[in-house]
Amino acid sequence: MLRSFFIALSKSRTIRSIAENSSIGQKVSKRFVAGMTVEDLVVATVAMNRVGVHVTVDNLGENVTNRDEALHSKALYHQLFDEIEKRKLDANVSLKLTHMGLDVDEKLAHEIVSELLDHAIAINSFIRVDMEGSPYTQKTLDFVRELHRRPNAAGHVGTVLQSYFYRTEEDARVLCSEGIRIRLCKGAYKEPATIAYPSKQDVDSNYIKVAKQIIRSGVFHGLATHDEKIIDAIKAWALQEGVPKSAFEFQMLHGVRRDLQESLAKDGWGVRCYIPFGTEWYPYFMRRLAERPANVIFLAKNYFKG
Ligand SMILES: Cc1cc2nc3c(=O)[nH]c(=O)nc-3n(C[C@H](O)[C@H](O)[C@H](O)COP(=O)(O)OP(=O)(O)OC[C@H]3O[C@@H](n4cnc5c(N)ncnc54)[C@H](O)[C@@H]3O)c2cc1C
Repeated sequence: MLRSFFIALSKSRTIRSIAENSSIGQKVSKRFVAGMTVEDLVVATVAMNRVGVHVTVDNLGENVTNRDEALHSKALYHQLFDEIEKRKLDANVSLKLTHMGLDVDEKLAHEIVSELLDHAIAINSFIRVDMEGSPYTQKTLDFVRELHRRPNAAGHVGTVLQSYFYRTEEDARVLCSEGIRIRLCKGAYKEPATIAYPSKQDVDSNYIKVAKQIIRSGVFHGLATHDEKIIDAIKAWALQEGVPKSAFEFQMLHGVRRDLQESLAKDGWGVRCYIPFGTEWYPYFMRRLAERPANVIFLAKNYFKG
């Protein structure tokens, strides 16, 4: 119930505008967000790289409502690639199609991401197209498959699948057959039982099933989860099957289980931390509360500690 409550709150434009502009909101958001500026992001990225953790950087924002906002997002992402190259960061980028204008003009979003992909190819980097709610699933997959077919694009663009969907096993099969890199996560949106497993147990079992399926494909994929039971199960399975530690990576979020991120990296497993930054943090932040409502108590305690 609390999960649904926080996901519903994440969609409120009024609360979003108040929260993002308030100093209390900005302070609290630091639990999951590196900061408001590119410099904040660089500091957080360097800190993770120092402990052997790769990074994916994300400029927060989604569902932009006009061309100018989409073009602003585009400029920021080009700047991120410039920073990655100039400062030799061990990082790639994650972006959302609705941040690039998908709701405004699909052609524009396509042009923006194509140009960003050219930039990624030129500096031998990678774009991960995040997966949003179910109205965008098919569009995102079609978009990424089309981009991946472009000359020199293979291996420079990938996407995300969510284990709460019934369709995920088949989507994984198609993407793997085309050599497209997948980030597998459980899924952060509220989806109906007609298309998604309602029980956590089924979402978790499907996660493990699809994780094994995609690792077996030989394409390099990311397993995005903080669920220690799943992580232990995959590690044990990989060791038993003789899958090298370098064949895939674990991925986690900035501000969540940093202890686990570091210990996995120390043990020689690939780990990538998703580091978001920017002023448009509200929907992302509320989805993090939805995943673990106990975070609200943690935040309140820390806020009053100063
Ligand atoms: C790198 C990365 C990228 C992602 N990209 C997407 C995406 O593109 N699209 C999408 O829909 N979803 C995305 N997600 C979110 C994902 O779908 C889940 O909602 C989220 O990861 C929580 O699920 P879990 O696998 O960690 O397992 P859960 O079963 O939710 O949690 C397992 C344990 O992890 C810890 N934990 C989990 N979440 C939190 C939190 N917020 N705060 C503190 N502790 C926590 C708790 O100890 C919890 O008991 C991404 C997640 C990661 C790690």
